[in-house]
Amino acid sequence: MAENTGTNLQVLLATRPTGYPEAENFEVVETPLPEPGPGEVLVRALYLSLDPYMRHRISDARSYAPPAPLGEVMIGGIIGEVVASHRPDWHEGDIVEGRLGWQQYAVSDGTGLTKIDPSLAPISTALGVLGMPGLTAYFGLLEVGRPRPGDTVLVSAASGAVGAVVGQIARIAGCRVVGIAGGAPKVGYITDELGFDAGIDYKAKSDLGAAIAQACPDGVDVYFDNVGGAIADAALDNLARGARVAICGTISQSSLAAPEPGPRVQGKLMTAWASMQAFNVFQFTDRHELARARLAGWLDDGRLKYREDIVDGLENAPRAFIGLLRGENFGKLMIKVAEPAGPPLAR
Ligand code: NDP
Repeated sequence: MAENTGTNLQVLLATRPTGYPEAENFEVVETPLPEPGPGEVLVRALYLSLDPYMRHRISDARSYAPPAPLGEVMIGGIIGEVVASHRPDWHEGDIVEGRLGWQQYAVSDGTGLTKIDPSLAPISTALGVLGMPGLTAYFGLLEVGRPRPGDTVLVSAASGAVGAVVGQIARIAGCRVVGIAGGAPKVGYITDELGFDAGIDYKAKSDLGAAIAQACPDGVDVYFDNVGGAIADAALDNLARGARVAICGTISQSSLAAPEPGPRVQGKLMTAWASMQAFNVFQFTDRHELARARLAGWLDDGRLKYREDIVDGLENAPRAFIGLLRGENFGKLMIKVAEPAGPPLAR
């Protein structure tokens, strides 16, 4: 991990990838340590979140948000500590969350910064189980999937930051839960450690539709789709009557140079009298704090478990992000940028 040398290590978005990103799409640079001005704070990053949505944002294709600008610090959420403050409401040592990007230090006027309560749980959880992915699972499942006790809930990318929480909340809601994940260790994790009722290793199944049918003999009442593509096609062939399909993400498609031809979904939905709805976690911002408190309660009473995949060193962010798009992460992926409560900043 890079030491504080009085400079600021940053990772810039250098070029836009076609297909899977490569290290050359990013540039690691050292710049002078920024100085906070009046009304500003200086934040030192501790953890950087790496997330699938970043693949959409480094493209200039039409999306729900503008593309990340070229030549600038790559976008991303961090947990950091305030190391200098020119604001009365922020103090040195405050732990904060904000979208300050892939860099060691950032100056902020406080816009978009939120204080984290370090007594709630380890601060890294604010990027995972108690952060955006956990909230995505909570609202996507409960508001869009609308599970009822006894339902069969199927979730893809099931060992990941979102999927693992989806499955555990579905269990809390009294559902039967089946997860799809890539590889035996991930499937073992969701069944043995998280209590999913069944797991399917999609990489080991030549006929995924048949494997889902076998694991979900009464059909799928809720399909929580984290991946799209062939996995979603197989899930849609197994919907129970009245099923709800929550479209959370399309990671299997996001790095394809050209979109895959897919099935026409209307007939599949008609067959099952099913509904399909995409959602975004920021639709539910007004209730995030309520949801976070419930997630924290489940964490506290042991009903919710989480796994983090922490890579050391900001300079390794491009490689780790590329790995995420190939399923190399196992749990919520983040970069440890610096030790919490590290040495005081040299001024
Ligand atoms: P994960 O931690 O689960 O990491 C991504 C995982 O996706 C990989 O580990 C891999 O798991 C799987 N994956 C990668 N490539 C493929 C592929 N080609 N085919 C199938 N699976 C693949 O990520 P998150 O839990 O953070 O995100 C999950 C999904 O949720 C993403 O699609 C993301 O965009 C979406 N999302 C949506 C939000 C919303 O508001 N709608 C908010 C947050 C996330 P495996 O090895 O099991 O294949």
